[in-house]
Amino acid sequence: MKKHEIERLDMLRKQGKKASEIAKTLQISLNTVRSYMRRHPIENDNHRCKNCDRPIYQPSGRKPKFFCSDKCRMTWWNSHREAVNKKAYRTFVCEYCGKEFKAYATDTRKYCSRGCYFKRGA
Ligand SMILES: [Zn+2]
Ligand SMILES: [Zn+2]
Repeated sequence: MKKHEIERLDMLRKQGKKASEIAKTLQISLNTVRSYMRRHPIENDNHRCKNCDRPIYQPSGRKPKFFCSDKCRMTWWNSHREAVNKKAYRTFVCEYCGKEFKAYATDTRKYCSRGCYFKRGA
């Protein structure tokens, strides 16, 4: 099955459509729809490959998988490493003196320096 077929199939399935209706809508064979649905039960629907968005079959009682394959995992990490690094720093504005300063995006600092931090109440 092609990726766009899978996407539409999943969408229709979430809307509560029956396998026969999905097969007719997508013009693919009922057997294909049925075997897909059997291999990808709806309760596992939220487990999708972070890279290609394909639903991942999750054997119950195992650690959840985030990627359908090693190839997808590598691709995802390679394409996100840069973005993650870029996002690491953010520009903040000091609430005391109004000066801009850079800090980790996850930082909750409100002041550019310890000086402003102590002076803030003055
Ligand atoms: Zn994948
Ligand atoms: Zn400041």
